[in-house]
Amino acid sequence: MNIIFHEQFYRTYDADPAAAPGRMEPIIHTLKRFPHYAFINPKPAQPDDLLRTHSPDHIEHIQQTPTIYDIALLAAGGAIEAAQRAYANEPSFGCIRPPGHHASHASCWGFCFFNNMAISLLKLESEGKIESAVILDFDLHIGDGTLNILRGKNAFTIINPQGHTEKDYLEEISHALEEAGDADIIAASAGFDEYVRDWGGKLSITAYQKIGKMMKNFSESHCAGRRYALLEGGYCYEDLGIIIHAFCEGFK
Ligand SMILES: [Zn+2]
Repeated sequence: MNIIFHEQFYRTYDADPAAAPGRMEPIIHTLKRFPHYAFINPKPAQPDDLLRTHSPDHIEHIQQTPTIYDIALLAAGGAIEAAQRAYANEPSFGCIRPPGHHASHASCWGFCFFNNMAISLLKLESEGKIESAVILDFDLHIGDGTLNILRGKNAFTIINPQGHTEKDYLEEISHALEEAGDADIIAASAGFDEYVRDWGGKLSITAYQKIGKMMKNFSESHCAGRRYALLEGGYCYEDLGIIIHAFCEGFK
């Protein structure tokens, strides 16, 4: 399984919790201990890739802060790399930041600048590789940006589980996947802020492994095995390595 990562993502590019120092290190430190993860460096996204998802004004607005623009472009490029490799049947996790699911066509908030998920899926679509997709957003917060950009597309199913207990939450994902049916690819907006020691206070380490496994099983029975996930939120910095590893162990 591929881990898409660039050392630039260690950089503290802003003062928000997603950009905090020490957030990425435990993830990479943990995953590097396992030889079955292949680390791949992404390239920055191209301007055309942004324009499928965002207005020229929005892109220009982000460009006004070059430190943020550069890293957001690299995160979008990481999402594209994960999506392309997933399409080629290599399960991939984009260990990227800044996150993207609160970025809409012409605006953004919540530590997000460009919508990495929409950018990666719309690129695959523009290349004629996919027509349909299932997006599972298991971040604590609803990915309003992704909904705003992609919900008009009938062949794109977006799942935002809301269950109040771990059991309800996992059952909701399972039912939603059953209902989703066949698609060309499945992708996760993988936020880890529902973790018991994070803001959401709900999901155990095992729950993340189960979510990864559900996605793997779904992709193998409904999407020709194509699957990828992109890091969104997750602020229990010291445990991020353990819970992302658990997810990847189910997902790989
Ligand atoms: Zn979140």
